[in-house]
Amino acid sequence: MGATIIDGKAIAARVRAQVAQEVSAFSERTGRTPGLATVLVGEDPASAVYVGGKQRACTEVGITPFDRRLPADAPHEQAAGLLEALNADPAVSGVLLQLPLPAHLDGPALTGLIDPAKDVDGLTPVNAGLLSLGRRGLRPCTPLGVMELLASVETQLEGAEAVVVGRSNLFGKPMAQLLLEADATVTVCHSRTRELAAVCARADVLIAAVGRPRLIAREYVKRGAVVIDVGMNRLTPEQAGNTSGLVGDVDFAAAAALASAITPVPGGVGPMTIALLLRNTLSAASRQAGIEE
Ligand code: NAP
Repeated sequence: MGATIIDGKAIAARVRAQVAQEVSAFSERTGRTPGLATVLVGEDPASAVYVGGKQRACTEVGITPFDRRLPADAPHEQAAGLLEALNADPAVSGVLLQLPLPAHLDGPALTGLIDPAKDVDGLTPVNAGLLSLGRRGLRPCTPLGVMELLASVETQLEGAEAVVVGRSNLFGKPMAQLLLEADATVTVCHSRTRELAAVCARADVLIAAVGRPRLIAREYVKRGAVVIDVGMNRLTPEQAGNTSGLVGDVDFAAAAALASAITPVPGGVGPMTIALLLRNTLSAASRQAGIEE
């Protein structure tokens, strides 16, 4: 029996089409359009590509993009001033500070300045706290995207053993909390976890967000598990050969032989992040307009 390959590109396209419809309904009702401001400090090429993708995606669904850029040597005060101006701008529903920042800037401190009502990445202490308390707030986009992927293959989460490998604030911790909210029994692993393979092999739902190419090998996967690969690792041209050069944290061929469903890399989790960013921006705009969803 072969694993179902979860097509993140197709699922993300459906989410985007739905957001486009809802944005149009929002605009008819309020006479306004939602707006997303991205803030890029410096000229890191990968970050510039990500920001460009977010800007284009906004335009496609009818969200107004605001592209704000600062020089690589911008001092803290300048970045803070820009974030505060965006917080105060009624045309801006969501504010996203592209990470990582140049080394002289304090990412968590600057992220913490974003108005929680506009924090469409869900990374401010207020939104992290609301998630932890199980209260309503803006949730981080990649874990939300993973929840959509799990739903797409009707994954039974209630009572399931879910294992998340990785405990970052950006992904692992909020992922674990969303799974808990869905009544899974959750284990979070990290670099000091003992017997990682044995812990992973218990999982009905195994989610890897580590940043180590193909760490999750055959013996980590329980037969019938749903396997979600969040990792995005770029191989050197010599390693890549004639492939895209992008590999996940899971040994796809080995895991697919055992899993009931699995995400590929690329084309699995990656496309979901922007789709959920658009949905979060619409949610933020709706709440700011006093519309309960
Ligand atoms: P991160 O902040 O570097 O966290 C990595 C986590 O993996 C840490 O908790 C670390 O443990 C753990 N870890 C490292 N080596 C390990 C090992 N050998 N065994 C077990 N755990 C180990 O990374 P992140 O931001 O969460 O991202 C993880 C991966 O997901 C990266 O490849 C990133 O590119 C990808 N990602 C993709 C998307 C997307 O949109 N598709 C979004 C976010 C992230 P310690 O805490 O003990 O150090």
